[in-house]
Amino acid sequence: MRVLLATRNAGKIAELRQILAEAVPSVELVGLDAVDDYPETPETELTFAGNALLKARDGAGRTGLPTIADDSGLAVDALNGMPGVLSARWAGLAKDDEANNALLLDQLAGLDDARRGAKFVCAAAMAWPEGREVVVHGEMPGRIGHGPRGANGFGYDPLFIPEGYAVTSAELSAEVKNAISHRGKAFRELATEI
Ligand code: IMP
Repeated sequence: MRVLLATRNAGKIAELRQILAEAVPSVELVGLDAVDDYPETPETELTFAGNALLKARDGAGRTGLPTIADDSGLAVDALNGMPGVLSARWAGLAKDDEANNALLLDQLAGLDDARRGAKFVCAAAMAWPEGREVVVHGEMPGRIGHGPRGANGFGYDPLFIPEGYAVTSAELSAEVKNAISHRGKAFRELATEI
């Protein structure tokens, strides 16, 4: 069975491919680069699940392939769960990771570790051309550090210290991060649905 992961992010494709290879070896996972080009699906919903479903449905409708899509972001306790679905553009439309991190640090200035709780959240959706749909969630709890550390990962990784660790997720190897990450958890659960 050929399944589309509606992304051009090679890291996400490699991660899900590895999970599926163990769980459902009969699946051949392809990314958007392997199908006819179509316009990027606008993420207009207010929830991760809503946006993941939009992208999965759009992919299935346009390609005829069962399609998986994910949407993720950071939920900070002291900000009432924000930046949430606005994580990529918290500091503006430019989607600038460095500016997002600087703004978040400013917003939490003066808060001690007990008040810096946060979690990464991922919704992964799958839509089949016949209309079946599934959405699952994964979370990685932790807290926001006091300054950027580490060079791996992307986005808020240099600020995020996963629960049970003394380093940021930008200081973890991809293997360790995938084993504990919101996206890894969601993808592994989705694999059981296929
Ligand atoms: P997307 O779901 O890949 O579009 O991610 C949305 C945004 O959430 C990213 O641009 C990052 O700012 C943030 N984000 C999601 N997952 C992670 C992660 O694993 N590490 C760091 N930032 C993340």
